[in-house]
Amino acid sequence: MEDLSRFPLRLEGPDAPMVRFDHVTKRYGDLVVLEDFCLDVAEGEMVTVIGPSGSGKTTVLRILMLERIQEGVIYVDGAPISHMEKKGRLVPASERYLRRAREPIGMCFQHFNLFPHMTAIQNCMEGPVQVLGLSRQDARERAEELLEMVGMIEKKDEHPSRLSGGQQQRVAIARALAMRPKVMLFDEVTSALDPEVIGEVTEVIRKLVHEHRLTMLMVTHQMGFAADISDRVCFFYGGRIEEQGTPEELFGNPQKERTQQFLSAVK
Ligand code: ADP
Repeated sequence: MEDLSRFPLRLEGPDAPMVRFDHVTKRYGDLVVLEDFCLDVAEGEMVTVIGPSGSGKTTVLRILMLERIQEGVIYVDGAPISHMEKKGRLVPASERYLRRAREPIGMCFQHFNLFPHMTAIQNCMEGPVQVLGLSRQDARERAEELLEMVGMIEKKDEHPSRLSGGQQQRVAIARALAMRPKVMLFDEVTSALDPEVIGEVTEVIRKLVHEHRLTMLMVTHQMGFAADISDRVCFFYGGRIEEQGTPEELFGNPQKERTQQFLSAVK
């Protein structure tokens, strides 16, 4: 068993990050995808992950939201989410603890996964009513506000099949925000979209960055967009952060050869 005594039970104090990956290892069978992985995301920070296919970018999001890790600890908003405290020690999280611990995290995927039998507004009300226990009236008000914010209020009574990909993705973002997450994860949210509707989705994310200062972690292939809105960009290579910095540093003056090669190949 891994010795977890070197990890704190909680992260406290003014400098505590909103998200911390603390020496995390993630394996699929024999395949080590992340090893001794460390990353902090500060409150209100927008961190973008770029890098070649298969370098582990999506895995970083998946271990926050969907999967377990083999070593290390992940913290969100001060509390461990991969582990829980028992008698003053960290032990692997139970399924029940894990579900609760992940509540402050919202996620949007490449494929929008809206509930097909529900209208746009019903999609945004379902979680708040079922999981957060809001009244239908309160959930409706919150959903309307968010659909307004993403520019979809006029289509609130449409089913997903009647919406374009870009519109569905905007509803998916509103649905995730309806759960009032402290951290939002975006996994290649524009990859499945037609080029002409990408802008309407990136515009919504831009708004979240500038007006709402939500803590966000985003995987993207769109370098221009990453350069435009990120506080920090991490270049992934072989399951590690090969290089990171502000967009100006990383895109304008990359130091490592692999970063330079990747950036010149995707230009
Ligand atoms: P990226 O997002 O950078 O393209 P991923 O994080 O999706 O990379 O994948 C990293 C590595 O982990 C790849 O080699 C991939 O094949 C492997 N992998 C991802 N998910 C699984 C899984 N469920 N089972 C086995 N291997 C996986």
